[in-house]
Amino acid sequence: MTENSLPILNELPQDHRAVPVLSELPDKSIAYPHDRTQFDWAGQGLHYFSYSYYLRQVFGYRVQRVSVDAGFTCPNVDGTVAVGGCTFCDNRSFSPSRRLPRQDILAQIDEGIFRIKRRYKCKHFMAYFQPATNTYAPVETLKPLYEKAISHPEVMSLAIGTRQDCVPDDVLDLLEAFAVKIPLTVEYGLQTIHNKSLDWMNRGHYHDSFIDAMERSVDRGFELCAHIMLGLPGETHEDMMATAQAVAESDLDAVKIHNLYAVDNTPLADQVRSGEVKLMERDEYINTLVDFLERLPPTMVVERISGEAPGDWFVGPEWCTDKPAVLRAVNEEFVRRGTRQGSSFGA
Ligand code: SF4
Repeated sequence: MTENSLPILNELPQDHRAVPVLSELPDKSIAYPHDRTQFDWAGQGLHYFSYSYYLRQVFGYRVQRVSVDAGFTCPNVDGTVAVGGCTFCDNRSFSPSRRLPRQDILAQIDEGIFRIKRRYKCKHFMAYFQPATNTYAPVETLKPLYEKAISHPEVMSLAIGTRQDCVPDDVLDLLEAFAVKIPLTVEYGLQTIHNKSLDWMNRGHYHDSFIDAMERSVDRGFELCAHIMLGLPGETHEDMMATAQAVAESDLDAVKIHNLYAVDNTPLADQVRSGEVKLMERDEYINTLVDFLERLPPTMVVERISGEAPGDWFVGPEWCTDKPAVLRAVNEEFVRRGTRQGSSFGA
């Protein structure tokens, strides 16, 4: 990666609040625990190790995510490895922050917190660098962006979503330095272990880049989370269970799982409308998801089990807009089977 080939997509307007450099920022380090066997989520009546339960245990209070858009692009959008982006991706659909007029990071956090506080009683927030590839710039560019986010007095943790082919060692060193100051999660878009599916989605990298990134990311003080998609065209149940097995054997701390869904203005939307791609029905997703979760270790945190597409750009499948119903169905399926996350781990 060269400095000039990795531009920030959009310059943000600047907020003029003073932001100290990392070494001068107050320490917000509640460490994420290395050993998660202490968390008795099953004893709390849960069927899987849910993120909200985990955060409450670690922090002692509710923590809500605030989406931050730092204006990045992706290497499979700007032509570095491909053009057009992932076949399902319209970044507006992935992040509330990208649907709003562009603002400075602190102003985005202020506004996000204001909106969340209208719905929930919450005083502590996680700044989530969400849309696009949030390590896709030189460290000199990244550092002040992250510093600004964690300087916000109500931000108690940081999450950074990125691609596994965009974390050179100097970026990982930077993330390690931030993890000393504040609880940090780095999220990689694994999606699947199958290269044929990564080709289908125009990902611009193969599974070996995930293995490489994981090897260089472990034991750096931040948590590692992977995004996974179920129901990719051409993937059999065995294929998806092979991904589950690889995830179970990995050093990941957490996963985010959802079904493939389509939003407008994407190649996938056209493929769904033409009938070329068929999206999973709800019962198939619930069964596959429960099979997947049963194979994960009981110590792996499950951050998400459904997607977050907005109604206005949403194409389908319709059932996945009703997240409470998906959650209920997952829990009912675990009860019906008499199993939980980890029941088939190592089997
Ligand atoms: S890497 Fe992520 S943000 Fe970039 S095009 Fe693919 S899904 Fe979208």
